[in-house]
Amino acid sequence: MSQQFCPECGGVLYYDIPMKRYLCKSCGLYVTKDEIRDIKDKSKEREEDSRKKKTRQHDEYLSWWLGSKKR
Ligand SMILES: [Zn+2]
Repeated sequence: MSQQFCPECGGVLYYDIPMKRYLCKSCGLYVTKDEIRDIKDKSKEREEDSRKKKTRQHDEYLSWWLGSKKR
């Protein structure tokens, strides 16, 4: 079985065989494999959201800057 790492804190996850869940001994996260995948998906979405916002702000600033230069 491959080693899993905590999606919240990056700590080592220990597999609880009877419960079929992973336990993080660093932050106490107690999740199934599916839940780990959900948390990873959500954090990826968050990253993409903030990247999109940053790009949009940059574009607005750039067009403002270019526009003010022409005048
Ligand atoms: Zn953790």
